Amino acid sequence: MNPIQMVDTVTQYRKIKAEIDSAVMQVIESGQYIGGNAVQTFRQDLEKFLNVPYVIPCANGTDALQVALMSLGLKPGDEVITPAFTYFATAEVVALLNLTPVFVDVDPQTFNIDVDQIAAKITPKTKVILPVHLFGQPADMAPLLALAKENGLFVVEDAAQAIGSEYVFPDGTSQKVGTIGDIGTTSFYPSKNLGAFGDGGALFTRDEEFAARITRICNHGVSKNRYLHEVIGVNSRLDGVQAAILSAKLRHLTEYNSARQAAADQYDQLLSGISGLITPYRAPYGNHVFHQYTLRLTAGREVRDAVKSGLDALKIPSMIYYPVPLHLQEAYAPYGYSAGDFPVSEQLSAEVISLPMHSELTSDQIEYIVQHFLAVYQPIYSS
Ligand SMILES: *Cc1c(COP(=O)(O)O)cnc(C)c1O
Repeated sequence: MNPIQMVDTVTQYRKIKAEIDSAVMQVIESGQYIGGNAVQTFRQDLEKFLNVPYVIPCANGTDALQVALMSLGLKPGDEVITPAFTYFATAEVVALLNLTPVFVDVDPQTFNIDVDQIAAKITPKTKVILPVHLFGQPADMAPLLALAKENGLFVVEDAAQAIGSEYVFPDGTSQKVGTIGDIGTTSFYPSKNLGAFGDGGALFTRDEEFAARITRICNHGVSKNRYLHEVIGVNSRLDGVQAAILSAKLRHLTEYNSARQAAADQYDQLLSGISGLITPYRAPYGNHVFHQYTLRLTAGREVRDAVKSGLDALKIPSMIYYPVPLHLQEAYAPYGYSAGDFPVSEQLSAEVISLPMHSELTSDQIEYIVQHFLAVYQPIYSS
């Protein structure tokens, strides 16, 4: 049995080494290291995969979020509604642009923004709803879109953890996450479901005008002449080597996501019916692509932390995503939130623990992980 890792990008690479190596060598031989054919090809490959007319690659998932917000023509102090339980970057770019992050609690089953709590947060300054498809599961987009439409708000989807996942609308049609709102963003950080061998990110949109603005902002505010800058932008681009790697890996993404789902099925089966333990919920309106396999240990923080230490001692990898909800992060103190504001986010941050999850997990490894997890958890839980 291979050593167990939280994410195993090297085993994944070895299985398609010939494809990746030749794609990388082609870029090196071409001399087109920034821009060029590899980036254009990846852009088209991803447009086809997502069934969206415009993909704009950029340097990372955080830039993708920043550029998305920059393209909406917002004013300082405009409000962006976003979940309190997510990765820091989602709200960081909001604050960085002098916009105001307005947090909303999450649903205890899906861990995604609780759409029923959004309406109460809408003010005349609200301009954007920014849902996150956390851990690979779609947020509930149909009611969220309805609310946005009713109130004239933009929707920017943070799909950094959910590329390939589909949301199923009440009428039975489905769409890939990130292509549902006005703009979607993703990250190709190596551990993401579609990971580069370095940094990368992208924006998606169906709107030609947004696509043009996003392209311009990513390139120092230039659209026609290279030295005529129409707006203030940033320098955010995907390099050719990463693009070539991503095109090769995109061909396997569906298979990688299926492997994650099969691993989740096996975990679910081995961990069902254990007291004090909740396995991941799968919402009927979407397919979960399991960026993370995240359990809730309902006994709370002390037990959860003791289990984490026990697993560490046995060299079974595990992670706490996320130990502190955003409204209690020191960096967001200026927005005036306090403990108790978002009880579900606070409860989740005390209860969650993520087990190893990636496309290369074998059933032997999963059995080994669960056997050791239970050997650690059960005595702590019953004491
Ligand atoms: C990873 C991630 C980001 C940021 O992506 P980077 O490529 O690391 O900048 C943003 N939002 C979420 C939810 C993420 O998981």
